[in-house]
Amino acid sequence: MANKYVYFFGAGGAEGNKDMKNLLGGKGANLAEMAGIGLPVPPGFTISTAVCDLFYKSRKRIPDEVKKEVAKNLARLEKALGQKLGDTTNPLLVSIRSGARASMPGMMDTILNLGLTDKTADALVAKTGNPRFVYDSYRRFVQMYGDVVLGLKPVNKDDIDPFEEIIEAKKAERGIHQDTDLTADDLKDLVARFKEAIKEKTGNRFPDDPMKQLWGAIGAVFSSWMNDRAIAYRKMYDIPESWGTAVNVQTMVFGNMGQDSGTGVAFTRDAATGANIFYGEYLMNAQGEDVVAGIRTPLPISELKKDDPKSYAQLEKIRHALEKHYTDMMDIEFTIQQGKLYMLQCRVGKRTAFAAIKIAVDMVGEKLISEKEALSRIEPDQLNQLLRPIFDLKEKEVAIKGGRLLVKGLNAGPGAATGRIVFNSVDAEAWEAKGEKVVLTRIETSPEDIKGMNAAEGILTARGGMTSHAALVARQMGKVCVAGCGELVIDYGKRTMSVNGRVLKEGDWISIDGTTGQVIEGKVNTKPSEVLQVLIEKTLAPAKAPVYQTFAKVMAWADKYRTLKIRTNADQPDQSANAVAFGAEGIGLCRTEHMFFGEGKIGPMREMILADTVEQRKAALAKLLPLQRKDFAGIFEVMAGRPVTIRTIDPPLHEFLPHEEKEQREVAAQMGLSFEKVKERVDSLHEFNPMLGFRGCRLGIIYPEITEMQARAIFEAAAATRKKGINVEPEVMIPLVGNVKELGLQEKIVRQVAEAVMKEQGIKFKYLVGTMIEIPRGAVTADEIATVAEFFSFGTNDLTQMTLGVSRDDAARFLVPYVEKEIYAKDPFEVLDRGGVGQLVRMAVEKGRRTRPGIKLGICGEHGGDPSSIEFCHLVGLNYVSCSPFRVPIARLAAARAAILNAPKTADKKPAKAKAAKPKKSAGKR
Ligand code: ADP
Ligand code: MG
Ligand code: MG
Repeated sequence: MANKYVYFFGAGGAEGNKDMKNLLGGKGANLAEMAGIGLPVPPGFTISTAVCDLFYKSRKRIPDEVKKEVAKNLARLEKALGQKLGDTTNPLLVSIRSGARASMPGMMDTILNLGLTDKTADALVAKTGNPRFVYDSYRRFVQMYGDVVLGLKPVNKDDIDPFEEIIEAKKAERGIHQDTDLTADDLKDLVARFKEAIKEKTGNRFPDDPMKQLWGAIGAVFSSWMNDRAIAYRKMYDIPESWGTAVNVQTMVFGNMGQDSGTGVAFTRDAATGANIFYGEYLMNAQGEDVVAGIRTPLPISELKKDDPKSYAQLEKIRHALEKHYTDMMDIEFTIQQGKLYMLQCRVGKRTAFAAIKIAVDMVGEKLISEKEALSRIEPDQLNQLLRPIFDLKEKEVAIKGGRLLVKGLNAGPGAATGRIVFNSVDAEAWEAKGEKVVLTRIETSPEDIKGMNAAEGILTARGGMTSHAALVARQMGKVCVAGCGELVIDYGKRTMSVNGRVLKEGDWISIDGTTGQVIEGKVNTKPSEVLQVLIEKTLAPAKAPVYQTFAKVMAWADKYRTLKIRTNADQPDQSANAVAFGAEGIGLCRTEHMFFGEGKIGPMREMILADTVEQRKAALAKLLPLQRKDFAGIFEVMAGRPVTIRTIDPPLHEFLPHEEKEQREVAAQMGLSFEKVKERVDSLHEFNPMLGFRGCRLGIIYPEITEMQARAIFEAAAATRKKGINVEPEVMIPLVGNVKELGLQEKIVRQVAEAVMKEQGIKFKYLVGTMIEIPRGAVTADEIATVAEFFSFGTNDLTQMTLGVSRDDAARFLVPYVEKEIYAKDPFEVLDRGGVGQLVRMAVEKGRRTRPGIKLGICGEHGGDPSSIEFCHLVGLNYVSCSPFRVPIARLAAARAAILNAPKTADKKPAKAKAAKPKKSAGKR
């Protein structure tokens, strides 16, 4: 058979299914799936995404072979229904719906009620005896067709839609306010006026041939793939242009046939909080997007129990059936036509990070999904939302008691946001670029606003429900959102908003609580999340913290499935304690130089640098020794036997001296030296390229007494900690090694000191000596280096700089354009460059293990907290990753997901074990 371009669904089966999203788009695939499992789906057919590509390749024409297939499927549809497009007794009406692989809510166009002409309208009046319904449908169709296919939709969003203008004029003439007050005759008149407007503005007549309408609409939907909104949306969510959209042609069902009809949207659970309740909104006697458009305020789905108990009960059943079938929370669209329920769409529902985590955890409890599945559904970065600040309740109470509560809206996107009011998307972006925190405040948002929403701390709208555009998009972005504050009067022209007589201007501060829906005038300070209150501040009992409990479950499961250990980068006891509370299993990088800046330390450090003789230097170092020892002891105690990797001094020495004359004079005075002496030393330490200069192990090689002092501080602290009965596991790490001889020289010093301290103190402790692999030569000669090093820690910040030949601090100017041009897919300092830097890491891992099979391998660069890089570390078989304390939970989850998603597929099922599979073997598969 030749290519198949069109897939039929409904009327007792479907040619497609939910797994065919690439071909049928999400909407088409799920319509087919729902029809396939026997849900009431109005029949129709899907023109595949492959046609979108052909459409653009043939200069926006639909190829003949596709046209033939469409005609065949249309005939099949007509036969199934006993209706015909354009028939003058029993006309078929259809909707033309876009639908890409990934859902792009509201980005592309849909046309309803296609097939209406003056003649078919008459036929439909005769058939239904409901002229108001017929002309309501007809005027909607002409309007949508005019906007979408004939291009009358205003480009500038301040301009009013020409059809809306005509409706407003009509309402004014008739002295009515609501669209619903328009009579059949009014609507009929609107149809005529709409058509006149079309003639006037385009020079063409509105097509009264339904087939012409059909091809026009199909072409327009394919064209909408390339409209500005869709393009902007794709950029933001990394959706490739090549995917294209499918087009669905579906039999119309009518929610606008009277009070026994209606339309709605719902989530099978609360998409904001994750609570297991049916969540949605509907309107009786309404069609299409009326519910989300914010024109009329919809009713909560629970009201439908009263309005139409039969349909409500059926929906409840479908809700459970869908969750069971898809094993996920679903977002559905439905229409009731004269008491009969139809399903018009379903897809996996977008949700807040909060909800994502709660739903995944709950569904494990409900035995819908496994722990592994739950973990693979939570993006590591989503955990951030559980760690994000909330309003300080006391402060909020004070604000409310002080009369600052302006209004309460819908709690559409949880969290706390405080910022300055801006009234449009462009301003939001501009203010944010200036470093302002803003709350984007709009009557309602539309797809044009996504950039501004992204720039804002939070989003506040006057109209629209829980499923309005603002709510949906905010949840997806993880933004705080309060929607549908009915009492809010926004004047875009004057740039003011007023509530009950109070007026706020652009730039005024406002605080919105997306968890409760409260909108408060002025700034309200935020405070740490529940998780932080339990773990870090220890001010909240776990039993009183449901969010924390959910978090704890996810963490426990993550720990069960991950193979990577998680350490932290910390150089102070309190940081280390926080990291341990977050689950860190050791310190992967303790930078010692930060310690030299502390109270009373910078003086001796400078003395050391300014010293002229070894004796002077040793005298200065002797002052530093007890200070460092105390710092290390504090860390060892907190870490209580967990491994602690301490790096010897790394930065160039001039970083410890001032560069301004005034400060140099101060230092000279303090040290009893001449200003010239200080200046001369600073000048002599000056380097053209400090990154590649006198730093790292080079310092310890030229001034061995520095390494000696640091080693002594470490080991004396270790001995003291051991004597307190606390275990210690120091790992001394020599930075910037490119040659095994460098490491050999430093190792000798460290080991000599260790032996001496053990003897002096009469106590034994374990310790390791290893190196950072951060110079390409170090990676390339890792087999040699491993003859000395007991561990490697990949310093991927420097390794990236030196492998790419890019200085991170100077790269902003070209690195952003580089990423835009896709030279690098992501900023290589954020996401490890697998193809380059990653190859060096892989090589060093292999060479290191060959020399020393038990060598410990970890990463301590910034990449240690990035989920994609963590996956890479898992794949190359590192033992641990190390990241900042607040990223530890994210790293735990990322490590578990890496293990789950890269597990050898057949491992648990196949009884025949071909090879004694070491988990590390899977590394080659990437
Ligand atoms: P979007 O992708 O923007 O959600 P849809 O294709 O889902 O656009 O169409 C929007 C709305 O139009 C639907 O939610 C539904 O209410 C209405 N609609 C679409 N097709 C039909 C149909 N065949 N019968 C009745 N209503 C329809
Ligand atoms: Mg839809
Ligand atoms: Mg480094």
